[in-house]
Amino acid sequence: MRDTCGPMAGTDSARNDAGGDSGDLIVLRPEGLYCPAGDFHIDPWRPVARAVLTHAHADHARGGHGAYLATAVSEGVLRIRLGAGIALQGLAYGERVEMNGVRVSLHPAGHVLGSAQVRVEHRGRVWVASGDYFVSGVDGDANPTCTPFEPVPCDCFITESTFGLPIYRWRAHREVQDEINAWWRSNAGAGRASLLLCYSFGKAQRLLAGLDPSIGPIAVHGAVAPINEAYRAAGVALPATRCIDELSKAELARAIAIAPPAVQRSAWARRLGEHSDAFASGWMQLRGARRRQGVDRGFVLSDHADWPGLRRAIRATGAEHVIVTHGYEAVMVRWLVEQGLRAGSFVTEYGVEASDESEAANTPP
Ligand SMILES: [Zn+2]
Ligand SMILES: [Zn+2]
Repeated sequence: MRDTCGPMAGTDSARNDAGGDSGDLIVLRPEGLYCPAGDFHIDPWRPVARAVLTHAHADHARGGHGAYLATAVSEGVLRIRLGAGIALQGLAYGERVEMNGVRVSLHPAGHVLGSAQVRVEHRGRVWVASGDYFVSGVDGDANPTCTPFEPVPCDCFITESTFGLPIYRWRAHREVQDEINAWWRSNAGAGRASLLLCYSFGKAQRLLAGLDPSIGPIAVHGAVAPINEAYRAAGVALPATRCIDELSKAELARAIAIAPPAVQRSAWARRLGEHSDAFASGWMQLRGARRRQGVDRGFVLSDHADWPGLRRAIRATGAEHVIVTHGYEAVMVRWLVEQGLRAGSFVTEYGVEASDESEAANTPP
């Protein structure tokens, strides 16, 4: 545990409080975030007895726990990834359960299907752990494939900071989606396939939902197809998709294929024949990222809040105490202190392994 911002007036190093005697509702333990009063962990990275999960991305939802609590809508993806037999209790958004006298409820985070912020209430105090969330800096620009982020009033807000630098400002989602359709249309016009690389859970479905099926057939990789089914089962409308084996040569020449970044230049990608490739990620905003990725096009699109979005979300909670996790902790903490808030950070293992945005990414600077 370290205070990432060093000695600075107004900050507190969020402590690794093994004893839980600070009175803090959520502390950092070697296994992950822990609620001492309720005796449960949130998105733990080591096996624990009771895990509350914010969402099904691999760095937040790991296997090996005794029991799981998550949103009911995330259940399909969680069982695909962690096993059909896990002991999982699903909650509706806003539904409350008591754990050791601590009230726990899950609230929309706008990040991927079923993603939630965890609200913890004990003796009149409320803490919220965000997990990952998306709230655009642009008004009314929500992710169409999941329930939009809802600010939850709290005393302490534990926020991610994946894109917590002022350089990260997303354009409106529909503008980026229009560019993707235009790129696909121009490839189809030239008789070559389009290969759109992205993370298979969350980003793939968000991109699919914005594709214009009148341009040509839409194919998906085997890593994406089962996740699509979970989205459809949860009532999210996605265009019809096919497997590339089902497409004729003529169809492939007008098709777009959605696949995880690992397939770039693989045998699977070669089956598309002549194609143009592109990568969709928030990291594409970085100078040189497209070239390093070795793709023809880079589309800047993220399921995480950008810098204005993070600031908006934090303000909307009304929290006077903010703890920053994975991302640009020091920069966020400094900004929070400048706003007169009490701020610290937790060093977590989120965003470390191949998962989420970081899968393709090249480690951010
Ligand atoms: Zn995530
Ligand atoms: Zn994360």
